[in-house]
Amino acid sequence: MSRVFVSKSGGRPAQRNAALERHTQRFLELRRGLEQIDCFCKGTVLKRMMKCGKARCACASDATKRHGPYFELTYKASGKTVNVKLSPEAAPLYRAAAQQYRKLKTLLNRLDKLSKTILRHKAKLAESKRPD
Ligand SMILES: [Zn+2]
Repeated sequence: MSRVFVSKSGGRPAQRNAALERHTQRFLELRRGLEQIDCFCKGTVLKRMMKCGKARCACASDATKRHGPYFELTYKASGKTVNVKLSPEAAPLYRAAAQQYRKLKTLLNRLDKLSKTILRHKAKLAESKRPD
């Protein structure tokens, strides 16, 4: 377990409120980005050129004569790598969805960090109202 150090310098209540307001605005702004996320899909789309296995085929000795391209979606589920074959038509759709997934993850990470900042401010504010 790593310890988390939280700054003790919260400033005066008025400054804290202003900071809280700023962080909250930023949170709402970022959250709007979620609505722009299109269909998403965890994983990566791979493009593969394959050997057919026939000894006399040109692909056996020449890498540039391999067959394909063949597409597949690969992702991890419960620690195992899953490969799903994709048609050439499906590949760009899944590639776009995989990009959306990465965008969503980036957005979630930012929202998570910002949420923690906001929570720290809110906690300080609540603590400052504690009766002596
Ligand atoms: Zn071949």
